[in-house]
Amino acid sequence: MKAPINRIIPFSNVDGPGNRMAIFFQSCPFECMYCHNPETIRMCIACGTCVQNCPVQALEKKDGQIVWDEKKCVQCDTCIKVCPHLSSPKIKWLSTNDLMEEIKKVRLFIRGITVSGGECTQHRDFLVELFSKVKQLGLTCLIDSNGSYDFSGDSELMEVCDGVMLDVKATNPLFHQNLTHTDNQLVMKNLKFLLESGKLEEVRTVILPTYPDQNEETVRTVSRIIQGKCRYKLLRYRPFGVRKEGLDFCGQIITSEFEAERLKSIAKDEGSDSVII
Ligand code: SF4
Ligand code: SF4
Repeated sequence: MKAPINRIIPFSNVDGPGNRMAIFFQSCPFECMYCHNPETIRMCIACGTCVQNCPVQALEKKDGQIVWDEKKCVQCDTCIKVCPHLSSPKIKWLSTNDLMEEIKKVRLFIRGITVSGGECTQHRDFLVELFSKVKQLGLTCLIDSNGSYDFSGDSELMEVCDGVMLDVKATNPLFHQNLTHTDNQLVMKNLKFLLESGKLEEVRTVILPTYPDQNEETVRTVSRIIQGKCRYKLLRYRPFGVRKEGLDFCGQIITSEFEAERLKSIAKDEGSDSVII
């Protein structure tokens, strides 16, 4: 079994507790306006645009697929900038054994792995196989998810997963639809299920400079549900790397510290005292 891997960070201290290897999968069912890595959203359709634009001929179209020569690549990211399809040709199809080789190199220095994306749960069978192997090394396995996968219906995945870091992008259904092009019913179901099953490691909400009312509605609703039983991270929106339609929707400025503090105080009032900004 193989999965498309966009990137591996051997040591990360922002993807869960302790030092962790972070593994980023390609493709996501959401299209968030504020996505900082929009090239992870879709799978490549081999249109060939990037091949013509690569300055060092590190890309080639072969048998209807794009082949990336990592040794020739100078990491200029021109291919990502010209891709009209929110994708990247710099993907590696790796097996769980390939990833285990990478994990074993750093196992003494990490507490576990975190799988992210894109949306890693798009590759559910791969995750079950990978986590089963990683746990034999005594390491923990965390999932970073946008909540588009029904965790409540998958006891096998929950058995091998130590926790989920869940994005709740907006609790208002219409605003969530506008922000991500997707419904949020499953996200809210997952929030409650993961909390009740003790698998909710952390909740995250990106707070926007242009929608204070939506920020407040989301922070109030999430805080009332979690009641301080897990960490709640409020991430200030930053416009860097955001595509044009996202900038038009979310704005061109960083969310202010004042807004972050205002929302932190609202979360506290609603019962969530473990808020990080
Ligand atoms: S990465 Fe983008 S530009 Fe390159 S072939 Fe795939 S879809 Fe086309
Ligand atoms: S990042 Fe690499 S593959 Fe992409 S255009 Fe630059 S040299 Fe070519």
